[in-house]
Amino acid sequence: MMNHAVSTIPHYINGGVQNSASGHYQDVFNPATGKVTAHVALANVEEVMLAVASAKAAAPAWAETAPLKRARILFKFKELMEKHHDALAAAITREHGKVFSDAKGEVVRGLEIVEFACGVPQLLKTQFSDNIGGGIDNWQLRQPLGVTVGITPFNFPVMVPLWMAPMAIATGNTFILKPSERDPSPSLMLADLLTQAGLPPGVFNVVQGDKLAVDTLLQHPDVKAVSFVGSTPIAEYIYGVGTNRKGSYPLRVQALGGAKNHLVVMPDANLEQAVDALIGAAYGSAGERCMAISVAVAVGNVADKLIDALMPRVKALKVKNGMDADAEMGPVVTVSHKTKIEGYIEEGVAAGAKLLVDGRGLKVPGHEQGFFLGGSLFDQVKPEMTIYREEIFGPVLCIVRVPDLAAAIELINAHEFGNGVSLFTSDGHTAREFTRRIEVGMVGVNVPIPVPMAWHSFGGWKRSLFGDTHAYGEEGVRFYTRYKSIMQRWPETIGKGAEFSMPVAK
Ligand code: NAD
Repeated sequence: MMNHAVSTIPHYINGGVQNSASGHYQDVFNPATGKVTAHVALANVEEVMLAVASAKAAAPAWAETAPLKRARILFKFKELMEKHHDALAAAITREHGKVFSDAKGEVVRGLEIVEFACGVPQLLKTQFSDNIGGGIDNWQLRQPLGVTVGITPFNFPVMVPLWMAPMAIATGNTFILKPSERDPSPSLMLADLLTQAGLPPGVFNVVQGDKLAVDTLLQHPDVKAVSFVGSTPIAEYIYGVGTNRKGSYPLRVQALGGAKNHLVVMPDANLEQAVDALIGAAYGSAGERCMAISVAVAVGNVADKLIDALMPRVKALKVKNGMDADAEMGPVVTVSHKTKIEGYIEEGVAAGAKLLVDGRGLKVPGHEQGFFLGGSLFDQVKPEMTIYREEIFGPVLCIVRVPDLAAAIELINAHEFGNGVSLFTSDGHTAREFTRRIEVGMVGVNVPIPVPMAWHSFGGWKRSLFGDTHAYGEEGVRFYTRYKSIMQRWPETIGKGAEFSMPVAK
């Protein structure tokens, strides 16, 4: 039921906000209070068509704009983001729930991709072979694709759109963002700052919406590439629909999915450091990070010491409104997500795992209607249990006990997800063996959350990523451009007569 006292969150098309024509809306909550703060528009087919038409109309001139000029606009955007850093972070906290300092960190990680994209003239430089024979030169171009689309999850409403949009725009494409309907406000702030930075209308558009908007974008013949980040079932769906699309130009798709990230604690690890790492990586952002650690793999005799150190820390977590200065963990994103996490905890108990700390039933004074959960800790978790196999995406850490490093590697390699992993050890050989043998896309050694920097690329293995390229970095440049090879010679160097055999260098 629509409450007219709260604001509506519109689309952003052709350089300005576009109010909903569909009349369909969804509630947006502040998870700390449990109250509806806004209604987000849900696009109908016509609104999606309008956004694609706007992006298509803007594409030729933007592709012709010199890379240095595109970079200068992104540089200005970076300055504006820095100026509005706190406002962006506050919008994240208001709709996602994560603590303000964490939200500020998210903005920084997004900014780093913008900074990387500012180097696009260098990134688009290609190779040139002078005189391969007969007066012919051979070189290559990386050309933009045209209209590209990003579909993003709730857990990083600024950072994940910035994994995509700066790369797409810098390389000369136009871009349509379909953000999560659960925390849609930051997308409009980004759109506004890009326009203020001088981006021409239609180069960056935002379509708010749900499955209908996504399906319409996937089927639109003018959309050339889709980057998706979200849960594995939807990633797989998008990859399937996108790569099977009929038409003269196949849709290019990269779809990053879910995770179950392990942190292996070896008997020779610095226990204090390992415990700090586990507390931050398992409970930071209420476990709602695709790189969150949700499994601690205790090797040899380390489990009991680990539990003694972890239990009091989990019980003492400061779970509060994310805007409180001393908050360590905020609420989870929605009441239905909270119920889902509670269901997993119940299932873990029923399956025989030992619940050492139960985060259910937590009430935060003054925020009784908020979607809060305390931290939960399980011991004696077995690989066949649902709480081990599935992504819980909440503040729940499972301890699995294994006898040695080989068993730890075997356990992790058998899991269907392969996003991130971490090893805590003080032995170089152990670390080297682990990093080489583990089947996971992003690996940390004594680093709990190894999110690659902007000039490397982000992505998991196995059912954590569908497609060939990882996100941002040089892989991002490749994803958003088409490779073209050119051979050229001028009449003065052309020999006489037709050639009927395969041309070879002479
Ligand atoms: P989600 O899959 O529910 O939603 C992601 C996007 O897909 C949203 O924009 C949503 O509107 C859209 N969507 C949802 N259902 C759809 C459907 N049936 N058809 C078409 N589109 C649909 O994910 P979420 O809950 O917003 O985010 C959490 C998930 O994202 C977790 O699984 C997490 O691991 C994953 N994630 C992965 C990475 C990564 O880099 N691998 C990064 C961040 C988040």
